[in-house]
Amino acid sequence: MKLLDFMRRRRDVVIIAAALLAALGLYLISVLAPSSAATTVVVTVGGQEVLRRPLSVNAEYSVPLSDGDVNVICVENSEVYMKEANCRDGLCLRQGRLRNQAGTIVCLPHEVVVKLTGGAQEADDGLDVIIQ
Ligand SMILES: [Zn+2]
Repeated sequence: MKLLDFMRRRRDVVIIAAALLAALGLYLISVLAPSSAATTVVVTVGGQEVLRRPLSVNAEYSVPLSDGDVNVICVENSEVYMKEANCRDGLCLRQGRLRNQAGTIVCLPHEVVVKLTGGAQEADDGLDVIIQ
C-alpha cells in the first residue's frame, strides 16, 4: 500500500507541475507575444461576442442586452472603461480603464466581459454570426 501512496503522490506532483508549466507558458505568451499592443475592444455577453471595435476610435457603445439591462462602454484615448451600467453591484463601473491586453472588465450580473486584443492576429471583423 505504501507504494500505491507514493505513486499517487507522484502523480499529484506531476499534475501540479504541469499546471504550473501551463500557467507559466500562458504568462510568457502574453508577455512576449508581438501582438501585445492592444488595438481592438472585444465585448462578449454570456460568452458570445457582440461587439468588436478599434481601440483607436473614441466612441461609446451600448452593449446589446436583454430588456432593462444597460451597459455602456466608452473608448477614449486608447483606453476602454465601463461608463454606465444598471447592474446590481456596480462593480464593473469601478474596475477602471483598460489599456493593455492583460486586463478585463467584467460585469458579472449581466455576464458582460470587455477585453482587449492585439491587432496582429487575423483581420477578423468579428461578425461570426451563425444563422440557424
Ligand atoms: Zn456591472
